[in-house]
Amino acid sequence: MTQAPHVIIVGAGFAGTYAADALRKAPVQVTMIDRNLYSTFQPLLYQVATGGLNPADVAYPVGSFAARRQTRYIRGDLAAIDARARRVKLADGRELGYNYLIIATGVSASYFGVPGAAENTFGLYTRVDAIVLRDHIMNGFEQLSADPEGRHEFAITVVGGGPTGVELAGTLGELRRDMMRATFPDVDPSRVHVRLVEMAPALLMPFQPKLRQYTRKQLVARGVDIRLNTRIREVRPDSVVLGDGQSMPSDLTVWTAGVAVPQAVTGWNLPQGMGGRILVGPDLRVRGGEAIFAVGDIALDVEHPAPQLAQPAIQEGRHAAEQIIRLLRGEQTEPFRYHDKGTLATIGRRSAVVQLSRPAAQITGTAAWLAWLGLHLMYLLGNRNRISTLINLSWRYIAWGRGGSVIVGDEPSKPLPGDARPRGRHVIKSLD
Ligand SMILES: Cc1cc2nc3c(=O)[nH]c(=O)nc-3n(C[C@H](O)[C@H](O)[C@H](O)COP(=O)(O)OP(=O)(O)OC[C@H]3O[C@@H](n4cnc5c(N)ncnc54)[C@H](O)[C@@H]3O)c2cc1C
Repeated sequence: MTQAPHVIIVGAGFAGTYAADALRKAPVQVTMIDRNLYSTFQPLLYQVATGGLNPADVAYPVGSFAARRQTRYIRGDLAAIDARARRVKLADGRELGYNYLIIATGVSASYFGVPGAAENTFGLYTRVDAIVLRDHIMNGFEQLSADPEGRHEFAITVVGGGPTGVELAGTLGELRRDMMRATFPDVDPSRVHVRLVEMAPALLMPFQPKLRQYTRKQLVARGVDIRLNTRIREVRPDSVVLGDGQSMPSDLTVWTAGVAVPQAVTGWNLPQGMGGRILVGPDLRVRGGEAIFAVGDIALDVEHPAPQLAQPAIQEGRHAAEQIIRLLRGEQTEPFRYHDKGTLATIGRRSAVVQLSRPAAQITGTAAWLAWLGLHLMYLLGNRNRISTLINLSWRYIAWGRGGSVIVGDEPSKPLPGDARPRGRHVIKSLD
């Protein structure tokens, strides 16, 4: 008996899971490989980082996902690809053969060579990043409470005024303004400083000017200090140095300014373009690789570049799976076309911006925020996660003034990045 063709999908994020879904009825055997046991819903990581959601709410076991689709799951880290022999090698030495390979491994932070950024900032790309950041934020607040004389302050800098930076800064502003009063009534909120630094002249650059202005006003109303046209020259353990040489205290710096493909991808011997993204042709096959597709954030079609967002990743994952089915039937592949349904970003409680493409429309405020909430619940994997997220977010935003955060650990889950020696007047030194 001949075996069904073997499709390997590496990466169980948006692109990989939608590719697996589209192959569930195809006459193929599918293996999913991911370095984690779970798939992470990145758009809600900032809620984990600010204590609104539990880490498990945004994670779904890849094993369960795969089992329901008659798909094999292997936990592993892709280390090398032999395109000629159609084999992949994992970091632990295991090797697997494939007929078709879909690469959907996403991206990570890009520091653009800024000195100290990699060592002295927190990221927000993985579930672990969100937990580490959350513990340091909450401990920062707690340290203020342990200092009733008010000798210390707590300065948080968010670098990058894209959707992630805006939602994080907005929620931190709300924590400072509303939650602290309930949880740490002895702390004067003016001892907490939330700063958002952006190199461009506006926040949320891909959005229409009206939505950008709304975003700015909403952040200002939450007490966020916005610095536009401001480049970060260097990040130190206790401060950031701006392009003009000015140094500003920063106990906790979060880097959301850009993404790039991890360095390890260069070892896969595939053609790479801007930001290290893997170059694909119109049908999403890797240039020069007959049987390899790249989809989601990691892929780049220079003729029709798609934004690095969840919707393009979902649509590309499905498209790659459909092309494999076409190839197995002996049919020609079809080019990928991204159907842009619109973009949205949230700022905080009952505050978001929605930019629809067809019909062209802009929505702000509570309606936009409810649309944001509904869409996120719809795309989360797993009913349990949908229910727990709905309950936790409802609790956070309804019981807002009463301190609606989830319980966090007693100690930071990981030491601060960079220099851990006591420094300056800032509270974080007491966490060393
Ligand atoms: C904080 C944050 C907030 C965001 N908010 C939004 C939003 O509101 N709306 C929106 O549209 N988009 C948002 N995005 C972007 C969106 O999450 C990404 O565009 C989307 O996740 C890309 O999907 P992907 O499948 O390409 O990669 P990912 O979802 O990143 O999945 C990649 C998978 O590959 C695995 N992996 C990586 N390397 C390897 C390897 N070597 N071997 C094995 N497995 C590997 C990872 O563990 C992961 O499971 C946000 C991103 C972040 C970081």
